[in-house]
Amino acid sequence: MSHPNHQIPNASESHVSVLEIDLAALDHNVRYFKKKLPSKTKLLAVVKAFSYGLDAIKISKHLEKQQIDYFAVAYTEEGVFLREAGVKTPILVLHAQPANYETLISNQLEPNLYSSYTLQAFSKLATAKKLQEYPVHLKFNTGLNRLGLAPNDLPEISKHIENTAIKVVSIFSHLAASEDPNEKEFSLRQIEEFKKCTAHIFRLLKHKPILHMSNTSGILNYPEAHFDMVRLGIGMYGFGNDANETATLKNVGSLKTIISQIHEIKKGETLGYNRAFTASQTTKTATLPIGHADGIHRSLGNGNGSVKINNQDCPIIGNVCMDMIMVNVTNIDCKEGDEAIVFDSQQMVCNLAKKSDTISYEIITGISQRIPRKIIL
Ligand SMILES: *Cc1c(COP(=O)(O)O)cnc(C)c1O
Repeated sequence: MSHPNHQIPNASESHVSVLEIDLAALDHNVRYFKKKLPSKTKLLAVVKAFSYGLDAIKISKHLEKQQIDYFAVAYTEEGVFLREAGVKTPILVLHAQPANYETLISNQLEPNLYSSYTLQAFSKLATAKKLQEYPVHLKFNTGLNRLGLAPNDLPEISKHIENTAIKVVSIFSHLAASEDPNEKEFSLRQIEEFKKCTAHIFRLLKHKPILHMSNTSGILNYPEAHFDMVRLGIGMYGFGNDANETATLKNVGSLKTIISQIHEIKKGETLGYNRAFTASQTTKTATLPIGHADGIHRSLGNGNGSVKINNQDCPIIGNVCMDMIMVNVTNIDCKEGDEAIVFDSQQMVCNLAKKSDTISYEIITGISQRIPRKIIL
């Protein structure tokens, strides 16, 4: 994997577009969720996709100092990225694939074995490499129908589980609709199903693996699904189950840019590609160095989305370009070089998400790696 963070300019040198990361806010959010949990419950921090688009290395290295028991990433290469940066905490690779098992092992990453095939492949490789009790995780499908072993994989599981080259350190599953109160019955059924699967495995094992099932909204809505560990993702970055919850969390990522140029366009003149905006009166516009290649969805153009300049909403006008947007700053006190805020609160992220018909997860994970990350303490 290329390491895009190494190719981008240093944030302190380029005050153009920047994604600020507030580690004190992150700490606040982690503490908030820890308080919801019995003190014996372990905490796994989900730092996949560059820590939800923020900065996987800075965030992981910071969290490592705050009693995080585990990290999770989606892919092996994301784990390698963390190991190369010196992260020592155990890392669960949620979607580890057989083609990468050698790399995974040489980086002390721990695979999720989610199917008979992956279990067999890893068990065989671990034996061939003469590994001793290499930590692995078994994932059961309890209704999401995405990844996971099924009860009819139990014969295959029992064949490998006694292989001393591997050790099942955790068993887990994932809720399909933990954020949705209307799906409570379904979630409770998933929890029961999970208990059944784990009971079978327990009979085969001499030790007790860590059980885990809850993501952020599972932590909040299903205390009965906390088990031994929870997997905290979006909540750590400031987004809770609902608006009230979110309001008690702190915003971690803020996306800011500047005004590159100001134009005054006359009534009847057009702006941007395809001449999508026509001035109905004299209009002052500001061009900002951030576009759809940076994560500003094209659907936010033509008056749909806005940025904040001098504390006022300035609608994005015309089409969103790859590297730029233009905003309407008529009657806004501003000049070239002034700051423009794309978002600096969860509310702003949620508004952008709503306007581009998506969820906060997609807005924050979509901020391009060419935007420098800057840590704020
Ligand atoms: C991404 C992910 C999480 C974290 O979910 P949030 O809703 O962000 O807390 C937890 N578990 C698994 C398996 C995931 O893929």
